[in-house]
Amino acid sequence: MPRAPASDPIALIDLDGTLADYDAALRRDLRPLCAPGELATLDGADSLHDLEQVGPHWHARMQVVMRQPGWWRELAPITANFEVVALFRELGFDLHVLTKGPWSKARAWMEKVEWCQRHIPDAEVHITGAREGKGLVYGKVLFDDYPPYVESWLKWRPRGLAILPAHPWNADFQHPNAVRWDGSAAVRAELVRRLTALRASAR
Ligand SMILES: [Mg+2]
Repeated sequence: MPRAPASDPIALIDLDGTLADYDAALRRDLRPLCAPGELATLDGADSLHDLEQVGPHWHARMQVVMRQPGWWRELAPITANFEVVALFRELGFDLHVLTKGPWSKARAWMEKVEWCQRHIPDAEVHITGAREGKGLVYGKVLFDDYPPYVESWLKWRPRGLAILPAHPWNADFQHPNAVRWDGSAAVRAELVRRLTALRASAR
């Protein structure tokens, strides 16, 4: 049965690097494609975006890995970050997954929907194309690991809250409206405080 449009404030939730462990799966599947001397390069890269800058062969290998049927559907959930999703539910936010669909891989779009049906079935799912960032999309809070998307979203939402799951590639990110989620009790308490205030302002 179709769900009624929600009136609760919207929480936008990224998949890759936030709920789904894209990075670990890509690193695991790149290993067998490496010559022995290349493993140190793979292990030494803080981010897979950095690795793509090393040379086009890395990008090409990533494409091969990501085109395997079932690859996106089988990404492991990042359990620690589902604690934030649970907070959104408890505090009365409406869940909206907001993820980019790789333009050259239509199968990934389908598998991302299947992933959500399995792991976060109470969320609405929005998959966007390659050109736009996430700044256009309305929400009270954005849970996303990637600083450029967080920046583009916060630029137009001076009262919005961004939550970044801790990764090496966002270690230096700072913004008064952003909290870096490291799974600690202190940050959890801060999130409860800030989300409760946001929820109250939405009434
Ligand atoms: Mg991400």
